[in-house]
Amino acid sequence: MTHVFHGPVRGIVHSVHQLSPTFRRIVFTGAQLNDLAADGPFYDQRIKIILPNDTGQLPVIADSTDWYQRWLQLPDAERGTMRTYSIRDLVRAEGVTYLTVDFVLHGIDHGQTGPASAWAASAVPGDALLLVAPHEGQAPSGIEFHPGGAQDIILLGDESAAPAIARILEDLKQQGTGTNVSAYIEVPSADDQLPIDTTAHIQWLFRDDQSLGQPLVQALGWHVQEGQEVQEDQDELLWETPVFSASGEDVAADPAPRAGTYYWIAGESGVIKKLRRFLVNEVGVQRSQVAFMGYWRHGVAMRG
Ligand SMILES: Cc1cc2nc3c(=O)[nH]c(=O)nc-3n(C[C@H](O)[C@H](O)[C@H](O)COP(=O)(O)OP(=O)(O)OC[C@H]3O[C@@H](n4cnc5c(N)ncnc54)[C@H](O)[C@@H]3O)c2cc1C
Repeated sequence: MTHVFHGPVRGIVHSVHQLSPTFRRIVFTGAQLNDLAADGPFYDQRIKIILPNDTGQLPVIADSTDWYQRWLQLPDAERGTMRTYSIRDLVRAEGVTYLTVDFVLHGIDHGQTGPASAWAASAVPGDALLLVAPHEGQAPSGIEFHPGGAQDIILLGDESAAPAIARILEDLKQQGTGTNVSAYIEVPSADDQLPIDTTAHIQWLFRDDQSLGQPLVQALGWHVQEGQEVQEDQDELLWETPVFSASGEDVAADPAPRAGTYYWIAGESGVIKKLRRFLVNEVGVQRSQVAFMGYWRHGVAMRG
């Protein structure tokens, strides 16, 4: 019987590029990455990273289908830290696999930084972490982008969603679909505008000294109410897609839209909640036409 490895693979930093003040691109390689499924399209494929523990060691996790439960049972001092990222690129050339992740360096100057951002900020070639991504032969999971037969696609996001948006746009170009695609990407400043290989219309929005989400709302001309606090569950990020609802609502039997406009919206959870309320309550957009995803939460450290 063929042995299928299910668990995290060891990713070794091959190169580091400071793309802009906010984005640091890290390319990982290593023999174990050859176990990963390298055929796209990846769209917004999410992956997990496990960072070294406080002694600088990566946890030792047995190769088994229940690796995640085993990892959770490790003592705190050994476990390391898990966070979620996107595949910016994954290529295999002459038997070597390269996986690219674009890390947002957040809060460095304000002392608010998290372990993943801090790790990325100081990463150098040869450093290692563990990566959890679909393996060859495994059932695909972790892609939320399902536009179905929509005629128009609108992608909205902040800097944390920029890598996923870039991958979606480049994959759509490679597939040569005739769908109209527009992207609105809010980033901290004009220096953070990144090259993306696409013919789609991209509007880069610079936050500068505006509040988070404000440039997105303004660019869209939406009348999203400010000041009304949205009740948030302390532990859960907003995650509502046609195939999954974190709030437990029924999901559509036929999840992908058949026509019309498909919205893919990701970023800071509170901002995304406001956009959701506006689109669903005020505009009346159908559930099957939109995916809303909190990628991070202001003032809250993620737990994987
Ligand atoms: C499906 C998915 C895909 C993602 N893809 C990417 C990706 O490709 N690149 C990427 O950089 N991020 C991505 N993220 C977001 C990333 O997981 C979070 O930003 C995460 O909190 C980073 O972990 P950390 O250890 O740096 O900070 P944490 O320990 O989680 O948080 C520490 C503090 O930093 C703040 N913080 C966290 N993220 C940000 C941010 N982006 N801007 C400002 N403050 C922040 C928190 O509010 C908290 O106060 C993705 C998230 C999801 C769910």
